[in-house]
Amino acid sequence: MTMLNHLINGARVNSQGRTQDIYNPSTGEVSGQVSLASKATVEEAIAAAHKAYPEWRNTPPAKRARVMFRFKQLLEQNADEIAHLIGQEHGKISHDAAGELQRGIENVEYACGVPELLKGEYSKNTGPGIDSWSEFQPLGVVAGITPFNFPAMVPLWMYPMAIACGNTFVLKPSERDPTSALYIAELALEAGLPAGVLNVVNGDKEAVDTLLDDPRVQAVSFVGSTPIAEYIYSRASANGKRCQALGGAKNHAIVMPDADMDYVVSSLTGAAFGSSGERCMALSVAVAVGDKAADTLIEKMKSRMESLKVGAFSDANNDFGPVITQAHREKVLGYINSAEQQGASVVVDGRNIMVPGYENGFFVGGTLIDRVTPEMTCYQEEIFGPVLLVVRAGSMEQAMQLIDDHEYGNGTCIYTRDGEAARYFSDNIQVGMVGINVPLPVPVSYHSFGGWKRSLFGDLSAYGPDAVRFYTKRKTITQRWPSAGIREGAQFAFPA
Ligand code: NAD
Repeated sequence: MTMLNHLINGARVNSQGRTQDIYNPSTGEVSGQVSLASKATVEEAIAAAHKAYPEWRNTPPAKRARVMFRFKQLLEQNADEIAHLIGQEHGKISHDAAGELQRGIENVEYACGVPELLKGEYSKNTGPGIDSWSEFQPLGVVAGITPFNFPAMVPLWMYPMAIACGNTFVLKPSERDPTSALYIAELALEAGLPAGVLNVVNGDKEAVDTLLDDPRVQAVSFVGSTPIAEYIYSRASANGKRCQALGGAKNHAIVMPDADMDYVVSSLTGAAFGSSGERCMALSVAVAVGDKAADTLIEKMKSRMESLKVGAFSDANNDFGPVITQAHREKVLGYINSAEQQGASVVVDGRNIMVPGYENGFFVGGTLIDRVTPEMTCYQEEIFGPVLLVVRAGSMEQAMQLIDDHEYGNGTCIYTRDGEAARYFSDNIQVGMVGINVPLPVPVSYHSFGGWKRSLFGDLSAYGPDAVRFYTKRKTITQRWPSAGIREGAQFAFPA
C-alpha cells in the first residue's frame, strides 16, 4: 500500500506519527494512506520556504515566468496520468478530471505573463522635479489550504501566481485526495523551481493550525467549507496575516417562463449533477417562476434524468461518479430524507442506486426534489451531492429575494429570453458570479473568482488580477534629485 508523504525543500520527506486512509470512492476500497504532518514537519516546510525566499524574490520575473512556461508543458504532457489520479481518489469521470486540469493549466498560463502584470504604476512630475511610482513586492512565505473537490485545480489557482510574483509557498492539500496535488508539485520542481520555493505538507487540522500561527507565514489562501473558511479567516487575521478564505455555496438558477426549456434542462443537468454535485459552483436550486414553468421543468427533467449514467470514474461513458466518502454519502442521503419528512416531493430518487460491479462504491443517484420551501434543511444547507431542488416562485422579484436572503452568494444564473430581465437580474442580485443563460459562470483565468456574503471571507478573490494584488504588497516610492549634482560639474578640490 502506498504511503503518501510530504515534499519539503525539493525532496520527499517521511514523517512519523498519525496517518489516514485514502479511498477509491468508486470501489469503496482503501487505495493508500497519507501521512498527517506534525507541527514539527510543517515547521520544517515553512523553514525551507523562508530560506528560499530571498533568492527567489530577486530572481527576475521573466526567469520566474519561464519556469511557468515549462510547468504548463509538463502538465499537458502528463494530463492523462493526472486525470487518472484525480479520478481514482475523487471519483470524477476522466473527461471531467481532464476539464478540471485544463482550468488549472489556464491559471499557469496567466502566471506566464507575470513580468507584464508586475510592471507597476508610474507618474512623472508629481511635484517640481518629483517622480512617483508604485511597485508590487512579494510578501514572503505564503500558505494554501485546499478542498477535496478540485484536488488539482484549486492548488493551481494559488501557487503558480504566488510563486510567479516572487513568494515561496507551502501547500496543504485535502487529506482525502492528496495524490494529484503532490504529483503536480513535483512537475513544478521538474520545471525548474529551486528547492524550497514550493513545499507540500499533507495533513489535517494540526498542519493547518501550524500554518495559521507561524509568524513566518505572511498570507493564507483557503478554499473549502464555510465554517472552516470563517475559522481560517479569523485565526489568520488575528495573527496579522493577509487572508482570503473561500467557502461554500447554494447556487440558484432562476427559470423564467419564457426560457427555452430544452436548453434549461440540458444545461441544468450537467450543472446540477456533474461531478456528483460536488462543485462549489454546482447549480443546486432551480427557482421556477410560475407553476407552468415549474411543471414543464419537472416533466422534462424527469425524463432527461432517466438516461443519467452513474458509475466508476474509469468509464468515460458515465455522466458522474461516486461522492467522496461513505460518511458524505450518508450525509447527502440524510438531506434527501429530511426533505421528504419536511413535506417536499422526491420526484426522482437516487437513494437506492446500485452500480453493478461496484456495490461498495459511495454512489448516490441523481435526485430531483420538487416543492422545496426556504425553511427546509435541504434548502438552507449546502448538500454537495447530485441533488437538484426545485422551488416555485410567483414572480421574478420573489425568486431574486430568495437568492438575496440566502447566506451564500457564490454563483447564480438566470434562464430567460428577455434582455431587460437579465440585465436587471445581473445588476441587482447579491451574488459574486452571475450567469445569463450560462449555468456555471466560472470566470476565466484572467478574471477573478469569488463569491459574496458567506461564500468568501476577505477582500480579494482568487486567481486572475486579484491574485496579483493578494500575493504582493504595494510600495509607493516618491523620488526627488535636488540640483547641484554631478551634472552641474564635479568638484575635484576638497571643499574649503
Ligand atoms: P473542508 O472545509 O472540509 O476542508 C478544506 C480544507 O480545510 C482541507 O484541506 C482540510 O484539511 C482543512 N480543514 C478541515 N477541517 C479543518 C479544521 N477543523 N481546522 C483546520 N483545517 C481544517 O472542505 P472540503 O469538504 O474539502 O471541500 C468542500 C467544500 O469546499 C464545499 O463547502 C465547497 O463549496 C467548498 N468549495 C468552495 C470553493 C469556492 O471557490 N468558494 C471551491 C471549491 C470548494
